[in-house]
Amino acid sequence: MQEFLGRVGAELDVFLTSPRTDPARSMPDWSKRVNGELPVRGLGADAVLEELVDLIPYGNRVSDPGFWAFVTAGPTTTPLAAFTAGMVASPQRYLVSAFNQMEEVSLDWLARLCGLGSDMKGVYSSGGSSANLVGLGGGRQWAYEQIGVDVAKEGMFGRRGAIYASSEAHHTIQRSAAALGIGRSWVRSIPCDAHQRIDTDALRLAIEADVADGVLPVCVVGTAGTTNTGAIDPLRELGEIAAEFGCWFHVDGAYGLPGVLDARVAERYDGLELVDSVTVDPHKWLGAPVGIAATFVRDRSILHRAFTQEPAHYLEGSFTSQDDIEVSLDHMGVEYGDFGVELSAPARGVMVWSILLELGIDGMTERIVEDIDRARLLTELAREHPRLEALTDPDLSIACVRYSATDSDNLNEELLRRILRETDFMPSSTVVDGAFAIRPCFINARTTDELVRGLAEAMVRLGDELAAG
Ligand SMILES: *Cc1c(COP(=O)(O)O)cnc(C)c1O
Repeated sequence: MQEFLGRVGAELDVFLTSPRTDPARSMPDWSKRVNGELPVRGLGADAVLEELVDLIPYGNRVSDPGFWAFVTAGPTTTPLAAFTAGMVASPQRYLVSAFNQMEEVSLDWLARLCGLGSDMKGVYSSGGSSANLVGLGGGRQWAYEQIGVDVAKEGMFGRRGAIYASSEAHHTIQRSAAALGIGRSWVRSIPCDAHQRIDTDALRLAIEADVADGVLPVCVVGTAGTTNTGAIDPLRELGEIAAEFGCWFHVDGAYGLPGVLDARVAERYDGLELVDSVTVDPHKWLGAPVGIAATFVRDRSILHRAFTQEPAHYLEGSFTSQDDIEVSLDHMGVEYGDFGVELSAPARGVMVWSILLELGIDGMTERIVEDIDRARLLTELAREHPRLEALTDPDLSIACVRYSATDSDNLNEELLRRILRETDFMPSSTVVDGAFAIRPCFINARTTDELVRGLAEAMVRLGDELAAG
């Protein structure tokens, strides 16, 4: 194990610190090797290690300091090492062990870090997509229970239900609605104001119209940090509207919930205590390896009613009672497998446990503030420059900027293509109020302010060339 991981670790250090060619450009070098024949006789572990180490340089660029596309970043080292340790030392999150307990402790720490009440209890799953599915599944269970239907058992009983989310909400809300049998078209898309925040008057009208039609208003979804621009919906107002109409209140904080640590924007999260469920992805802003999100609810019994796989001989039959635990196979530990859609799952909590132990609340706050500063810096640089413009006042760590020209949309589409091809910066794009924007999201712990300035300079230099035709 040591030889194996040591060898891989050494190569990963090289990977992170040496200049590389983009893997798409070197495809002929690796594609043929990856696509070899399925061997009848295996090559043996040593040969595979050789091959693996040789292929590491052809990984993607998500861990690069200039990678700012979407909402994703490479993992920091401590949680990566911690996760690797957990994969061996506790390959399952269940059964009594230090790692099973870290699951619960880290969920409690994470709730506290993100300003959630100490009554909020969580469960991990693989990412924001599944975390939203679990939260909305809890909401569906609860809303139908209010009309006397156990939806997990009986199905939706012919009564239509609707979910309300802004036009800027992440599309995993629609996908969750599809998976939950509510239906994508029953996610009412509520328009936003000029700051990409949900229009609460329009929300109210939409719910009232549904109620008049006999549709059950299941859930109001707020986003704390939209994926497009980092906007934060007015949570208190949403919570009050949800309560008024007897809906579940879910907040998707997959990306932006940790933004609450920055005192300058903390007030935007006012009303967070009204949530019934809320999600956050440690694999986004907290630097964990991809594959971890948390769903928090006030009472996990609702998730149990929505998602339990029900007792089975092959599982619960093995356990003794809670107060007679002598060996680790006597008890499941906390029964996370009944609070979501996964039974087998890695002990992911160790990632969050280790990051928060490494940085503490202060260190994590510093990181979040630095990232928000970077979005502000790029926005300022764009505002100061006569030929750049900023399309948003960022709440969080996403900036939306562009080169200003007569045909801005086309020029900036071309500009982004050239930035990706000719520089080491990798922002992605979005559309703000109909206008094409270059959109870096700063959650990458390996980024520097100098690189942010470099992007602004590259935009001017390449934009000037394009404008000159
Ligand atoms: C990224 C994101 C998701 C989806 O999360 P995954 O971990 O990619 O599945 C959901 N909601 C928001 C707001 C996001 O930014």
